[in-house]
Amino acid sequence: MAGKCERCGQTILPDDAVCWQCGARLMPASGAAISPTGKDDADMPAIAWTTLAYLAVSTAVILLLLVWMMIILAQQPLL
Ligand SMILES: [Zn+2]
Repeated sequence: MAGKCERCGQTILPDDAVCWQCGARLMPASGAAISPTGKDDADMPAIAWTTLAYLAVSTAVILLLLVWMMIILAQQPLL
């Protein structure tokens, strides 16, 4: 039987970590394998810095390619 969110009362799934309706953190299920090491200093979801760096590099490469293509297209035709 699925539980309910303590904040908004929305029906939630047992595997949900946060309520998809209001975003409230849900109580971990009994016997959960996940055990955070007591570091609960922020409510923001943990984003891996490697993922953030990958996205930043990908964006920079795409922007450089766009600028390079604009420079190429702006040149006078050789013939
Ligand atoms: Zn909720």
